[in-house]
Amino acid sequence: MSEREFKNPYQDYDESLKIYDTDTGRLISEIEGPLMENVFILLQTLEKHLASDIDWSDSSVYTGTSGIALLYLRFLDVKIIESKAGKKDFLKDALSYVEPVIPYLKKKRFSFLCGVPGPLAIASVLFHRKGLPKESTDLARRLENLERDVCSPSSDCPDELLYGRAGFLFALLFLQKHLPGPDEFRENTIKEVVNAILASGQRMAKKFKNTYKIPLYYEWHEKAYLGAAHGFAGILYMLLQAKQYLTQEQLDTLIRPTIDFIVSQQYPSGNFPSSLGSPTDRLVHWCHGAPGVVHLLLLAHETFPEDSNYLESAKRCSDVIWQRGLLKKGYGICHGVAGNGYAQLRLFQVTKDAKYLYRAVKFAEWCFDYGKHGCRTPDRPLSLFEGFAGTIYYLLDLLDPLHSAFPAFQLF
Ligand SMILES: [Zn+2]
Repeated sequence: MSEREFKNPYQDYDESLKIYDTDTGRLISEIEGPLMENVFILLQTLEKHLASDIDWSDSSVYTGTSGIALLYLRFLDVKIIESKAGKKDFLKDALSYVEPVIPYLKKKRFSFLCGVPGPLAIASVLFHRKGLPKESTDLARRLENLERDVCSPSSDCPDELLYGRAGFLFALLFLQKHLPGPDEFRENTIKEVVNAILASGQRMAKKFKNTYKIPLYYEWHEKAYLGAAHGFAGILYMLLQAKQYLTQEQLDTLIRPTIDFIVSQQYPSGNFPSSLGSPTDRLVHWCHGAPGVVHLLLLAHETFPEDSNYLESAKRCSDVIWQRGLLKKGYGICHGVAGNGYAQLRLFQVTKDAKYLYRAVKFAEWCFDYGKHGCRTPDRPLSLFEGFAGTIYYLLDLLDPLHSAFPAFQLF
């Protein structure tokens, strides 16, 4: 048996199985009922642990308090659970995990996931929901004004998602989605960031033109990562989500040829290398490998529907994730089963093929037995990206499969 994953014990999808109701878009009650039950059982456990184990020194979305706030924000938006939520005040809960950290935020990192933009963006949206427009706008402007540090050519800000410009771009797009608009200042800021990421990629592509014939090239710590967290896939995915700020020429001459190059790197197994030239087909995580790249492929398919390669490549990702995605690293979304479930869920959203929803449901059912498979305990066991909160986010999202979105990554 592999040291990285458990053997998938489930039968694959059989067309006679009914998974969801095509009229309502809801899972059949035999699946939805236990899923909803587990969401609330796990939430109760999370709240019990948070009451004693919360670490206020980490305010990040990735491993800290703002990730918990983002989970509660999602509870606020999944309407199917309303009848089961009772007297819970998710807006109050969400604010309680982000409002106290705002006065102590220090400008160190610039991404939504690991820097100050995460707490600022989430608190801004929550204040807006609470009917406090001035407080909301003040925080949004504070975030947008970081653009000078992020985009300056002398800045050492990387381009990737976890710590860099693509992660800052997500914070701006998150504000754009959740706050009233149009907002010219915000839109101009988004354009600046998009252009800075493209300029940086072109600069690097020139430097490496003898090795790789691509118009955009990115590295993090001198390594050309391909995956969602540190690499090409996360950066290009974020740029495609900001498509309205790109010209057709940029799409056709910069973005598309770079995506085509990534597709050409797919292993025979269907997985993707963690970095360019890596011969070892090992990691099947959202952060490294097919479960992250698949999001880029599916958005490329929606953006360039005339090319069937992207969807074919994405389907091969689904197959390898189904075979090798029940990870021994645990149940989280960065490098765990829930993150791999999101890949299947996204395939369902795009193709409406029940096979992928079935696969997403089976990965969720695996998570019902949280902690019972003998997996490693993550460093931050309650957190959104490594731990428990992320698993709950996935199960909650699966209740409304057509409107689910990988947190801090997928916008719509
Ligand atoms: Zn990871």
